[in-house]
Amino acid sequence: MAKLLLGCIADDFTGATDLANNLVRAGMRVVQTIGVPAGPLDADVDAVVVALKSRTVAPAEAIALSLDALRWLQAQGARQIYFKYCSTFDSTPQGNIGPVTEALMDALQCDFTIATPAFPDNKRTVFKGYLFAGDVLLNESGMQNHPLTPMTDPNLVRVLQAQCTRKVGLIDYAVVARGAEAIGERIGQLKGEGVSIAVVDAVSNDDLLRMGPALAKMPLLTAGSGVAIGLPSNFGLAPSSQASALPAAGGLRAVVSGSCSLATNRQVLDFIQRGGAALAVDPLRIAAGVDVAAEALAWAAPLVEKQSVLVYSTAEAGAVKSVQGRLGVEEAGAMVERTIAAIARGLVERGVRQLVVAGGETSGACVQALGIAQMQIGPQIDPGVPWCHARSDAAPGAGLHIALKSGNFGGDDFFTKAFTVLA
Ligand code: ADP
Repeated sequence: MAKLLLGCIADDFTGATDLANNLVRAGMRVVQTIGVPAGPLDADVDAVVVALKSRTVAPAEAIALSLDALRWLQAQGARQIYFKYCSTFDSTPQGNIGPVTEALMDALQCDFTIATPAFPDNKRTVFKGYLFAGDVLLNESGMQNHPLTPMTDPNLVRVLQAQCTRKVGLIDYAVVARGAEAIGERIGQLKGEGVSIAVVDAVSNDDLLRMGPALAKMPLLTAGSGVAIGLPSNFGLAPSSQASALPAAGGLRAVVSGSCSLATNRQVLDFIQRGGAALAVDPLRIAAGVDVAAEALAWAAPLVEKQSVLVYSTAEAGAVKSVQGRLGVEEAGAMVERTIAAIARGLVERGVRQLVVAGGETSGACVQALGIAQMQIGPQIDPGVPWCHARSDAAPGAGLHIALKSGNFGGDDFFTKAFTVLA
C-alpha cells in the first residue's frame, strides 16, 4: 500500500467532509474515518481525514482525542499533519484551537506552523489578521451570538494568542501576494522574533495557491478547509476525475431529512413539487409512542422499488418551536434523530444503496445507526457535499453510496440532482 501523504484531524464531522471534499477536488484520493480507527488503514488513498467531536469539549479531552488521532495517522506513515477547524474559527477563550495546536506541535517537535481559517469559496477571508464572514467582520456576522462558541473578536492573532503559550504572529496579504519565497522569508523573520504560530492572510483562492508551496516542508498545518486546495500539488498531484472515483452505484434510492434549515425546507418543497414520493414524520406522534419508523418503512417499501422516496421531519421554524415547546429542545431533537436514523437503516436493509441524509446531527445519527466507520470521498454534488461510499452491515457485500448534507448546503433541487450526479 502506498504511504499516506496527508493525515488530517478534524474537530467535527461535517467539517471533516468539507476538508475531504476540497482535497479530492484538488486531486487526492481521500477517506474520512468516524473517530480514530481501531485497526490499520484498509484503503489505498493519499489522505485520511479523522473526524473527531472535539470542537466544544474540554481542552484536555480535545488534546487527548487529537493526540490519539495523530498517533494513528503517524502509524499509517502520514508525511504531513493537517489540523482542521471551522472557517469561523469557532473556539472559546480556552480553546480548543490553541491548546490542540500546541499539543500537536509538541508531539511533532514542530517549531513553526500556520493558522488560517480562510475559505474564499465560502466567503471566509482573512485580511491583516482580521476574519471576515461575507462582507462583515466575524463579530458582526451572527457568530458573536453562537450558543457554544461566541466569537466577539475578529482579530485572529489576538484570539489565538489568548489560547496559546507560544507567541502568535501574522503573515499579511502583502507578503502572501509576493509568493512562496516571500512567505518563507517572513517565516524566518517571525522565528527570529520568537513567533511559533502565524495567522496568514488570504482573500482569494490565488492567495491559498500561492501559500501552498511555502507549506510543503511544515510537519503540521492548522487551518479551515481552504488551505487544502494548495497542498496536493506539493505531492505532485493535480486535479483528476480518478481522485473522486467510487465503485459503481446501484440499488434503490432514498432521502431522509431531519434538517430544519431554510435551504432544506426549500429542498423538501422542490422534491414534492416535482411529484416526488414524500412522507412527513410528526415528532408529536413519536412522542405519543407510535412506531413512526415502522409506519414510514411500510409506506416506503412498495414505492422505493420504482422511484426515489423522501422521508422528512423537516419543518418551518414556527412548527419546530411549537414542538420544542411541548417536548423540550434536546428531547425533541434526540427523538427525531433516533427515528430518522432507524428509518435510514430500515431503508438500507430493504435495498436502498443510494442514500441522501440532510442535517448535520441527523447525519451523525444515521452514520452511527448504519455502523459506518469510514467513507471514501467521491464526486461533489453541490459545494461542500460529496457522494461517499461506505461499508455497512446493513448493506452486506458492496456497501452503499451515501451523501451527508449539512443544513444550509445545497441548491433547491439537491434531492433530485444528487442521484443524477451518481448516475
Ligand atoms: P442542520 O444541519 O440543519 O442543523 P441537524 O440534523 O444538525 O440539521 O439538526 C436538526 C435538529 O432538529 C435535529 O436534532 C433534529 O432531530 C431536530 N428536528 C428535526 N425535525 C424536527 C421537528 N420537526 N421538530 C423539532 N425538532 C426537529
